[in-house]
Amino acid sequence: MSHTQPLDRSPQSAQARQCPVCASTLLTRVLEIEQVPVLCNVLWPSRDEAISAPRGDIHLEFCENCGHLYNAAFDPALLEYTQVYENSLHFSPRFQTYASDLAHRLVETYDLRDKDIIEIGSGKGDFLRLLSRLGGNRGVGFDPSYEPDQDPGGAEPVRFVEDLYSPRYAGYKADFICCRHVLEHIEFPRDFIASVRESIGERQTVVYFEVPNVAYTLRDLGIWDLIYEHFSYFSLYSLGRLFAGAGFDVLALNEAYGGQFLGIEAAPHNDTHASRNGWTDPAVLQSYVAAFGQRYRDKVDKWQHELERLHQAGKRIVIWGGGSKGVTFLNVLKTGSTVSAVVDINPRKQGRYVAGTGQQIIAPDALRNSPPDVILVMNPLYQDEIRQMTTDLGLKPELMLV
Ligand SMILES: [Zn+2]
Repeated sequence: MSHTQPLDRSPQSAQARQCPVCASTLLTRVLEIEQVPVLCNVLWPSRDEAISAPRGDIHLEFCENCGHLYNAAFDPALLEYTQVYENSLHFSPRFQTYASDLAHRLVETYDLRDKDIIEIGSGKGDFLRLLSRLGGNRGVGFDPSYEPDQDPGGAEPVRFVEDLYSPRYAGYKADFICCRHVLEHIEFPRDFIASVRESIGERQTVVYFEVPNVAYTLRDLGIWDLIYEHFSYFSLYSLGRLFAGAGFDVLALNEAYGGQFLGIEAAPHNDTHASRNGWTDPAVLQSYVAAFGQRYRDKVDKWQHELERLHQAGKRIVIWGGGSKGVTFLNVLKTGSTVSAVVDINPRKQGRYVAGTGQQIIAPDALRNSPPDVILVMNPLYQDEIRQMTTDLGLKPELMLV
């Protein structure tokens, strides 16, 4: 049974809705994915709890005016980020290299030395500590999932506020504000960016925001990134539009991390900034959007058949990557017992169970006890490090890019 529904280009209910970025009503229903776990990054302590994890629907709508994609069925009441929320990617060497290169570049580009930096959604604080260390900067991180008890501390002058960033914290002034992988979770992105702009006031604070890139999903079929936690799927166009509309000048707007992310650098509008207009015409996305529903269903069908073929051949299959991509793959495909386990290098995930489908998360070492024939690689960027780790374990499984 597929979880997708036929394309509906003129839903009645869409008439009343507005794009959350530009308020246009030129909305197209693209795809419906029913009853996925609402929190992919919460892993459960038992199989039973994992299988009965709360679920919600994803009804994707595309705005033709600004090139934004969002979940019209999103209900933030179903989501509650707490300390069990685990989305740190910092255990991956590939991701660490990316974050380190980014921090170095931001410090150089904006001369972040002896400055005040705010990070919105600072997670465990790794990136803020890095920025602080590189430039002798002071940092304040905001995150409701921050765990003071697990703070390793350090020499950096970095503090954390265990809360969502909001206008009540406008008193915290900064020379630089960064916010990575938060904006896509927020139901009212215009209000949020407007409040950031208001908090900055007269200062020439530079902001850096990073989000998943919808073009990677639509164009490159990164369909396992469609998750309930994400209300918004930004394109270059909708992201640029959001910041320009809130009174920022867009200083830079680029794809990053193999096209999977978008990064925007912006500063409060003034007449000295060179204008960047490469993001103003979303028409290029239209052909991808028009084909996406069918391409999505074809890819899901292809993997269902492939898994069934491997299962029939008696292959032991595991997934590498217990992040949102792996959890979504398992839930959309409804793989049953064909995938026996999920490998993840993050020790905080190991021993827990995947929301919705109940596979256990195991450490790479555990593969030695029951060697897999096939490893499904959820992110092509990690293929080399997975190959290296399995070779070090004395294993020679077939790696398949999902
Ligand atoms: Zn729009």
